[in-house]
Amino acid sequence: MALRALPENLINQIAAGEVVERPASALKELVENALDAGATRLDVQIRGGGKTLLSVQDNGSGMTPEELNLAVERHTTSKLSDEDLWNINTFGFRGEALPSIGAISRLLISSRVSNQDMGWKLKVEGGLKSEVEPLPHSQGTRVEIRDLFFATPARLKFLKTDATETAHALEIITRIAMAHPHVSFSMKEDDRDLLTVSGVSEALFSGEDQFFQRIRDIMGKEFSENALPLSMDRNGIRLFGLISLPTLHRGGASHQYLFVNKRPVKDRMIQAAIRDSYQDLIPHGRYPLYALFLEVPNEIVDVNVHPSKTEVRFREGGMIRGSVTGALKTTLGSAYHKTSSTIAQETLESFKRPSFQRESFSKEMFSRGPSSSASSYGAFDLKRAPMSESQNTSPSLTGMDLPMGRTFFKEEASFEKEHENMAYPLGMAIAQFHETYVVAQTQDGIVIVDQHAAHERLVYEKLKKLFSGESIERQSLLIPEVIELQPEEVTCLLQHLDDLAYFGLILEPFGGNAVLVREAPALLGNFDMKGLVKDLVDELKELETHHTLKERLHEVCSSMACHGSVRAGKRMNLPEMNALLREMEKTPFSGQCNHGRPTYVELKLKDIERLFGRS
Ligand code: ADP
Ligand code: MG
Repeated sequence: MALRALPENLINQIAAGEVVERPASALKELVENALDAGATRLDVQIRGGGKTLLSVQDNGSGMTPEELNLAVERHTTSKLSDEDLWNINTFGFRGEALPSIGAISRLLISSRVSNQDMGWKLKVEGGLKSEVEPLPHSQGTRVEIRDLFFATPARLKFLKTDATETAHALEIITRIAMAHPHVSFSMKEDDRDLLTVSGVSEALFSGEDQFFQRIRDIMGKEFSENALPLSMDRNGIRLFGLISLPTLHRGGASHQYLFVNKRPVKDRMIQAAIRDSYQDLIPHGRYPLYALFLEVPNEIVDVNVHPSKTEVRFREGGMIRGSVTGALKTTLGSAYHKTSSTIAQETLESFKRPSFQRESFSKEMFSRGPSSSASSYGAFDLKRAPMSESQNTSPSLTGMDLPMGRTFFKEEASFEKEHENMAYPLGMAIAQFHETYVVAQTQDGIVIVDQHAAHERLVYEKLKKLFSGESIERQSLLIPEVIELQPEEVTCLLQHLDDLAYFGLILEPFGGNAVLVREAPALLGNFDMKGLVKDLVDELKELETHHTLKERLHEVCSSMACHGSVRAGKRMNLPEMNALLREMEKTPFSGQCNHGRPTYVELKLKDIERLFGRS
């Protein structure tokens, strides 16, 4: 076969194969061109998932007829002036989008610059360029792509359904809109509105606040109410954005937006760093929501990895990863007192309005026996907090028995003291019910704490802190505990005596099918030793092949915390309950147990008022 130069149109079609994978990627090129031209308003229209029509109208600089002619030529660009590939500040720079798109579709570009009265249009169909013709036009540019891939039908076969292609296109526009808060965006499919956001006023919001506002506009109410603002600036690396509270999560990664130097990217390293930061805060297999902007000097990031430019490469990956994890952990750690408002909402919705009428109260309902109150008002079975021996001298409790069988009580304390106590974020304990939950009154509502979940988190965080130091304080058991196990379980434990000693558990063999526990971590106090050892065996068996126990610190802490915590069903007195609340306030991440469930729910007075139709 003779060696020959490829015809221009074929080159463009090959390039199109790289740049234009699907309608969404063509759309991305058009939108980025509009932004590079300084547009502040972009209107996007698509039809047939973008296969039939994609159009972008902008109010940017526009093009003269000469520029229009050059724009569709290969490797012509107005952007890469000094051939400095390491300092790219515009989206485009390859000058291949328009000629590539023109080679595989029917492309129509019309445009007008501000200092001319007339606009101009140009068509490219399957690579064939028309003459430039005049037409009336508003300032800016309109680019219309019809019948994408009509000239390369093989490509069409790889496209998904219209709905899927539309979803991809919308995602691209959403990401770009997030990164350009001062620009107004609209997107329609036929006459259906897919997205409308108006430019965030630079007079009202400046700097990061502009982005926060745009993120809220796009991600909606639920996220906005359950997100933590994050802002960090260290070693020339800046990270800011909104991240979801660990109590708000999704089954997929679709609500995760990441930007590097304002470009939407998908970067595995950073995604992994974010996942790590949420580790042990959210349930397995669930995903946090976030919109995060990473700003790094252009010299340490390479955006030229892939023509579609969603991948980047960092020169100092480790440092960047560390900064991201650090910033997220700090932000999440400061949110101990917040849990998702969605949870409060769900709680409220699960309250059913009583269907009975006042007249129908039966005699039994008025009797005060605990059993009758429990059966009639299960959810409200408030118990008087039991008094401990020491409490006989502490503040006395006055019970106020209400006719409905509920027992309310109140600490007799001066108003000021009460008020002062309520200033604690988690308020002041007033009761325990079902020996499982603690109710506290805060300044503007009530908090219901799951005592086991909360205590488990506290013990877990303490253990984690202890284990990160060198040694752990052990306590000899007065009576060593014998725990019977299967022979292979004993063998398994005996292989890990050193690891277990590191965690403060001193075991010895005791016959063929039992072990003796001599010492345990002091922190755990009185707990279900047998349950813990059995859980540890299960973990050891699973981990044996891959990791040492120390490497799986989290699992061990988790098991120990679970067994070493206040059980549901334990009665607590008021000082104990308040001690739990104060401890929670001091402990990072105490809003969730280590399985990602909330440890408490807060109901605001205004929510409770709504329940009773008072507002
Ligand atoms: P690149 O963006 O890499 O420069 P393109 O093929 O996407 O390459 O565009 C070629 C040129 O066309 C751009 O450099 C720019 O000068 C011009 N251009 C494209 N779209 C627009 C637009 N919407 N407004 C103004 N000029 C545009
Ligand atoms: Mg471009």
